[in-house]
Order: sequence, then C-alpha cells, then structure tokens
Amino acid sequence: MELSDVNTVAVLGAGNMGHGIAEVAALAGYDVALRDINEEFVRNGYDQIEWSLGKLAENERIGEDEADAALGRIETFVDLEPAVADADVVIEAVPEKMEIKKEVYGELASHAPDRTVFATNTSSLSVTELSEVTGRPERFCGMHFFNPPVRMPLVEVISGAHTADETLGLIEGLAESMDKTPVRVRKDSPGFIVNRVLVPLMNEAAWIVREGDATVAEVDSTTKFDMGLPMGSFELADQVGIDVGYHVLEYMHEVLGDAYRPCPLLEEKVDDGDLGKKTGAGFYDYEGGDGAEIPSDEGREDVRERLTALMANEVAGLVENEVADAAAIDRAVQLGAGFPDGPAKMADDAGIESLVDRLDDLHEETGEARYDAVSYLRELAESGSTFHGGNAENAAGANGAGGALDFETIRIEREGRVGHVVLDRPHRMNTISAELLDDLDAAIDALEADEGVRAILITGEGDRAFSAGADVQSMAAGGADALAAVELSRKGQATFGKLESCDVPVVAGIDGYCLGGGMELATCADLRVASERSELGQPEHNLGLLPGWGGTQRLRHVVGEGRAKEIIFTGERFGAETMERYGFVNEVVGNDELLDRAMELATRLAGGPPIAQAFTKRAMLRGREDIEAGLEIEAQAFGHLMNTDDLMEGITAFVGDREPEFEGK
Ligand code: NAD
Repeated sequence: MELSDVNTVAVLGAGNMGHGIAEVAALAGYDVALRDINEEFVRNGYDQIEWSLGKLAENERIGEDEADAALGRIETFVDLEPAVADADVVIEAVPEKMEIKKEVYGELASHAPDRTVFATNTSSLSVTELSEVTGRPERFCGMHFFNPPVRMPLVEVISGAHTADETLGLIEGLAESMDKTPVRVRKDSPGFIVNRVLVPLMNEAAWIVREGDATVAEVDSTTKFDMGLPMGSFELADQVGIDVGYHVLEYMHEVLGDAYRPCPLLEEKVDDGDLGKKTGAGFYDYEGGDGAEIPSDEGREDVRERLTALMANEVAGLVENEVADAAAIDRAVQLGAGFPDGPAKMADDAGIESLVDRLDDLHEETGEARYDAVSYLRELAESGSTFHGGNAENAAGANGAGGALDFETIRIEREGRVGHVVLDRPHRMNTISAELLDDLDAAIDALEADEGVRAILITGEGDRAFSAGADVQSMAAGGADALAAVELSRKGQATFGKLESCDVPVVAGIDGYCLGGGMELATCADLRVASERSELGQPEHNLGLLPGWGGTQRLRHVVGEGRAKEIIFTGERFGAETMERYGFVNEVVGNDELLDRAMELATRLAGGPPIAQAFTKRAMLRGREDIEAGLEIEAQAFGHLMNTDDLMEGITAFVGDREPEFEGK
C-alpha cells in the first residue's frame, strides 16, 4: 500500500495515548475511527480531543475551521468490527499488557481487511512476538509516539523480525504526514532507542544514591544544570512514574541480562506506592513538600562522568547490535526526551577514551555487569575515534592550540576568542553542498568543544555572496530520489539547528547574496550584520520547492509570521535595508566595513558572560514551543547565576566603572 492509499486510520484504545494519536491523525486529514471497550471510555477520549483542539485554536496554532474539521473526521466506536471495517491502518494503543494486546490482535485479524497495516504503540513489549498473532507479521510494526502525541515530535518506527521494508516506509510516511519525525529502530530491542537510554540512566542515578556516592539533590543538580538535560533524573522518574520506568527496566533485565538489574531503591518506591507525581510522592514530596526543588549549584563532575559513561555504553550497544546508528540515536533522544545534545554527541564531547577508563574502574571496583564496556565503545576508544566518525582529537578541540581544522569546503580561523567560520566555495558563490553540511557540522562540534572559543562568526569567502543557497547542481547529480531529498532536508535542518542551539553567541556577517539555504543558515545566527549591497531572500517557491533547511519554521521567529510568509511566498530578493526594517538584519554597514564590523560585534559578544549567554539562548529557544518551559529555564538559570564568579565580576566591574572580565565560572 502507498501512503496515498491511506484514507482511514483506526485507533484502538482512547486512553492517554490513543486519543492523542487520533487527534494528530485527524489533524493530518485522515478519517479516524476511535475505539474503546465501553461508551464512557471512548466518549472521554473524544471529549479530550475536543478540548485539545479547542486549545490549539485558542492559541492560534490552528484555525477554528481546522479544529472543527478535524473533530468532524473522528467517529467513535465500541464494537471492533465496524471500527476497523474500512481501516487502511490500525494503530493500537491498548494497555501495556502482552495478554491484552494479543487478545486484541487475535480479534482484529478476523475483522480487518487483508490490506490493512497494523502498528502498535507499545513502549516496551516485543514487536516480533505481537506480530506473530496478527496473521500478517510482514504488515506489522511498532509506531511509538511520545506523550503527549500532539506536542511531541518523535515517532520511533520499529521493525519486528518479520516486518517488510514497505511497511516501515509506509508507517514512516504516515508519521511524517502527521508532522512527526520518524526515527527507524531497525531491530526489535527492549526500550527501542529513547527508553534504552533514559531508563538505564534513571537506574544508574538510583544506584549512585543507593550506594551513598551522592545525594538525590546532587545527581539532579548534575543532570539538570551541568549536563543541561531538561529535568533531573529523579525529577523525570517522578514525572513519568517510577513504576513505569521500573517495569521497562525489569523487562530489559529479563531480555538483555544483568546489566539492567533494577536498583532496589526503585523497587522500594514501587512497593511503597510512592510512584512519583501521580501519587503525591516519589523521590520528591509533591503534597507535603516543595516538589522537585533542585539546587543549581550542587552538580558533581564524577556523577556527570559516570552517567555519561553509562549512556555511552547504551549507545554503543545499540550501534553494535545494528538497532540504530549514532545519528539516529541522537536525533531520537533529542526529539523524544528534549536533550539539548544527543547522548552520542555528549559522549564524543566528554572523550570516549576517558569514559571507557571510567567504566573499567567502576567494573573493577564493583564487578557490576552494567560497567562492562561494550566492544564497540572500546574499539572507538582504542582507535581514537568518536561516535560521529570524527577524530577524537579534533572533536575535543585541537583548535584550542590555535591550529586550523582542515576542511574542504570551509575554513576556520581563530581571532582571539572568536571562532571564524568562512564558507569557502567562492567559485560557486559559497553554495551549500552535502559535503559543506558535513564540514560545518564537524566544525561546530569542534568550536563548541573548545573552551577558548566564546563566539562564532560566519561569513562567506569573496565579495559576491555570503551563500547563494543550496548547491542545486551537485544535489541534482545525486538523482531526484524523494527519500534522499527528505534525508538531505533533515540533515540541513539538523546542522543549522546545531548552530542555533550552540551555547556561544553566533554572528552572521553577510556580504552579497544571502539566498535560500544561505538565508536559512543566517537565520540560525543570533545576530546578523549585512553590507549595503547584500540581497537576501528565500526564492524556493520560484523553483516549485520550499525552504527545506528550516526556513518554514525558524524565519518567523526572527521576523514574525507575516513577514516570513511575505519573504517565502513572493520569492523576491530584498535589500539589506529592507531586511533591517523587517528585523532580520540587526545592522547595515558600508560594503568595505562588513568584515571589520562583524568581527567587532563577535568579539564584543565573546567578552560577554558565557553562562548567562548560554542560558539565555536555551530559554529563548525552548520558549518558542513552550513558554512555560522557557520561563522555567529562565528562573532556574537566574538562581544558578547567583552563585557564579561571573556575577561577582559583573558587579565589581560595574561598581569600579571598568569592563568586566567574565570567565564562565
Ligand atoms: P491508557 O490506560 O491510558 O489507555 C488504554 C486504553 O485502552 C483504555 O482506555 C482502555 O479502556 C482501552 N482498552 C483496553 N482494552 C481495549 C480493547 N480491547 N480495545 C480497545 N481499547 C481497549 O494507556 P496509555 O498510556 O494510553 O497506553 C497505551 C499504550 O501506549 C501502551 O502500550 C503504552 O505502553 C503505550 N505508550 C504509553 C505512553 C505514555 O506515556 N502513557 C507513551 C508511549 C506509549
């Protein structure tokens, strides 16, 4: 079946996940049959969808008409037979119990048309085992949404042992049509990707506390403030439900072995019924106490290293067993768990060799199986390589010594504390090829890892273009393969996104054409300076394309949706001064002054307070999707900054009427 043949989606189970999945399917334009076991449950799910669509309309995320139309596409059922009679795809979201699910599939197999593809939203059960009771194992796979489906962008698409490639392609296409990012899990393995990283992380956090090596506050302070994860490990466990994590862990223990032995601390909480927020108490007290009040200054380097080492080992296990590659793992964990960097990147940054040493020490001390380094991780350490393929020395910032990283398509120059990236393809107007994306990706990693770099400046070589866009010629040479184009779009989005979310301020110095992909790259800078002669625009519509490297999303945050639409829909070129008026360019300067002025601005930002700058970027970026989350980062960062040397330095310099010398401490 092709995606274009899919008109009707049946969702079984109208609970937490089922109603959310039905909502995103209806929003994507599918007719939806929502089924639960009695009238009350299915009505309840429907009411929640109605409420949620109302909220989306109220917040102007969708129009009222769209909300009404989506609701109009949903029909509710209690009987299974009519619910699935016309279904092209069935998504099952009934309780996480093997017996219940098997019973559902047994019944489903006799009522659904032969063509129908089945997908399970299970978080942990074996997709292969389930597939074997469906009568169509090759047309069955996992489609794991995250909670709440309407907000979370990730869908893990899991291959069972019998799943056909065509089924995976169809379900990935279906997820994309619902505005989600699918990540393929190539093998049915407990916890898939995201939980395989998160759950052992929670377990290790518990072991650290259980063994008296650190307190709950120290572990959570480390994870939240030093590692920059959205929540502390224990805060997350309380949020999700300690029982939920514990059961996944038990399953991993059973299937994958001793490395996943649950920490007794978790078991005690489950036995006592202290399951977290939902019961009023877990690791924190939500009724009598203050909830998860996490100190910002109790982080510990040894805890950070131990948790990072554990995660690195999980990533290596997934790669070694060909469940997913490092890039897919990072993407999944970033989208599914809100990590600012994926676990493979975190491990690369920490240094694989030192993480293996740490695991070896812990293994020797305790004999615990979870510290037994996976062969693949050991190989990376021995060959001085990293998950992302680069040489460990480069990733760790060989540039720190002032040496230049060697790339084909870009140059990196250091000027004081500014890392200057020059797009270096002047013969092709600095257009962006797939190779340039790779180079830029590695360059950003290296600059970020280099503590001496406190700001990044990006310019284009020569005086004709910052970048005239994507290198259409080199891309067309790769053939017009739709899937490859999707991948290329994602790759550009991710690389530019890395620049957008990196902790140091980024300045784009624009001289000449800044078009298409070039403008999308400049959009990811924090500030933009342009020469008078510059011309900017998103001309993709003129070619029958659309801005595919983040332009449909990011531009509006800089210039507002009205201007973003004007820029994209007209496809025109706009002068630097117009773009200054639109708020895209912060400053227009004479043609000959561009480089000096852009470097001056970058140098000034490089002298700013690094911690405050990093948190400001994170809060603003996070706040785009979720203002509450952004405000929370702001509040926590505000508290964190109180104890920094930078604040003392700022105040002392202010009182002494001199320039502050911030050190990022
Ligand atoms: P839930 O208990 O909220 O909802 C399950 C619903 O299924 C209930 O309304 C129940 O009445 C209904 N049901 C039971 N038997 C049924 C049947 N035979 N036919 C139709 N409906 C039936 O559970 P949930 O949290 O929505 O989880 C559903 C699935 O999604 C589970 O497999 C779970 O592991 C997975 N999941 C959950 C989350 C999460 O955060 N809650 C996240 C991802 C995946």
